[in-house]
Amino acid sequence: MITGKNYIGSTLSSKGTKTYKTFNPQLNIENDITFSEATQEEINEAAALASEAFKTYRNVSGIQKAAFLNAIADEILALGDEAVKTYCSETGLPEGRAIGERGRTMGQLKAFAALLEEGSWVDAVIDTAQPERTPMPRSDIRKMQIAMGPVVVFGASNFAFAFSTAGGDTAAALAAGCPVIVKSHPMHAGTSELVASAILKAAKRTGMPEGVFSNVNSSGIEVGAQLVSHPAIKAVGFTGSYKGGKALYDLAAKRPEPIPVFAEMGSINPVVVLPEALTNRGTDLAKTYAGSVTLGTGQFCTNPGLLLGIKSDALTQFVKTLSETILTIDPSCMLHPNIATTYEANKQKALDQEGVTVTAQYDTKIKENYARQAVTTVDGSTFLENTQLHQEVFGPFTMVVQCDNVAQLETIISKLEGQLTGTILGEPSELPDYKNVIEALQNRVGRIVYNGVPTGVEVCPAMVHGGPFPATTDSRFTSVGVSSIQRWVRPFCFQDWPNALLPEELKNENPLGITRLVNSSVTSAKI
Ligand code: NAP
Repeated sequence: MITGKNYIGSTLSSKGTKTYKTFNPQLNIENDITFSEATQEEINEAAALASEAFKTYRNVSGIQKAAFLNAIADEILALGDEAVKTYCSETGLPEGRAIGERGRTMGQLKAFAALLEEGSWVDAVIDTAQPERTPMPRSDIRKMQIAMGPVVVFGASNFAFAFSTAGGDTAAALAAGCPVIVKSHPMHAGTSELVASAILKAAKRTGMPEGVFSNVNSSGIEVGAQLVSHPAIKAVGFTGSYKGGKALYDLAAKRPEPIPVFAEMGSINPVVVLPEALTNRGTDLAKTYAGSVTLGTGQFCTNPGLLLGIKSDALTQFVKTLSETILTIDPSCMLHPNIATTYEANKQKALDQEGVTVTAQYDTKIKENYARQAVTTVDGSTFLENTQLHQEVFGPFTMVVQCDNVAQLETIISKLEGQLTGTILGEPSELPDYKNVIEALQNRVGRIVYNGVPTGVEVCPAMVHGGPFPATTDSRFTSVGVSSIQRWVRPFCFQDWPNALLPEELKNENPLGITRLVNSSVTSAKI
């Protein structure tokens, strides 16, 4: 049952007077439940509990943490229909998406559990003592990754399950050994409370310390700012707008003790279409591209907002097919009236720029909060000069840039802001001629896709969902896949430490049987 209260540890709490409701964008009405925004006192309580929990949780074994994560997955499934219905009522997304995303969320939790059970992720490195070394003997030095401390997670509006309360950031932080306080997204506070209850049930069932998880409500920026400023918090995960992510990043940097903010912000995910591919299969490419632009009402961080090609009859035909196809796709609902209004405003801003031509815009009557998809074109020099055209329009919108030649294409790519993804649509035979273009693209993105679309992010260990600023605040890390655990740990070194007092991962006997780098050799043997 959803209460509208905060979870401060496992205690339901509503000390404040500020309240709000979520909104059903499909029905265009407010949902019934009233949520109570967390007070500074409640934030302090959650932070104190997280600090206390960290003292125990940091030393909980990988096997026990794995049991906790697996139990969270089970408890999320056990929420059943109520969670799916609440998700749909707070996002406007269909049931199939809710069920698919729930499966992905459970899969992520289980992937981290498997990582912990195997154990080698701690990256143990051992350089044993060399007492006979001259002129100076060498000490025994042993290193591994350890948890940083309590983490605050800002859930994403566009993934109420998979990138929110028990989403990738939370799963990775709990796996690392960090207690988590979730700042629930105001658009899906009910979904967040239900998932929080599942996490807390799992924590109780598997004997995790009180305070290992809290979920606080808010409908304004104060609670998030108070959390990020709190001295007990040691790192932050965020998915959302550039404005929000950068504000929190700056706030964290100004603290007396600055802390890292791993923010995933906007991206327009450039797609480069090469001439031979355009000539050979332009129609198919245009149809596939139209599907990617409109998938999930364009509300994906990997949505392709920009297509770059060299002027030709084939590119003109591509734009025609793309424009015709996109108008045959039924408009769909956006996550919230605010997102729909922002989409219309940002789209209009792009359409109003000099030199922009609208080649398709859905103009038949649509329901409230539904999005009118649009395709625009602009020439290369206009795009280069006007950086407003580089801004993300979050929704089913794309811009085709018609470049004069390959040199201009390369210049445009090299001047783009950092992106999550880049895509090359081309024939194998033409790729060598575009080596510089491809390298320029690689330099601006975290993942490069060949002959596909950027939407659809596989959750697997090799995935990189990150990229140069402003796509993220730290391009060295991914926020999808088990490597994302690396955001919540720091390297720690023991020098000449007694074997009996070392963590299991670094003991001579290697009781966990993990893979380690011992005196520069990869091995799982004892010392
Ligand atoms: P948002 O406005 O950035 O908000 C995300 C979260 O951060 C919310 O919980 C919000 O709290 C909080 N927040 C924002 N600014 C803050 C600040 N200055 N201080 C403290 N907390 C702050 O993003 P959104 O609500 O998810 O969607 C708005 C826009 O974000 C979209 O139109 C889109 O452009 C972008 N977006 C991008 C992605 C992506 O994958 N990169 C995903 C979703 C959305 P409150 O709402 O309570 O203020």
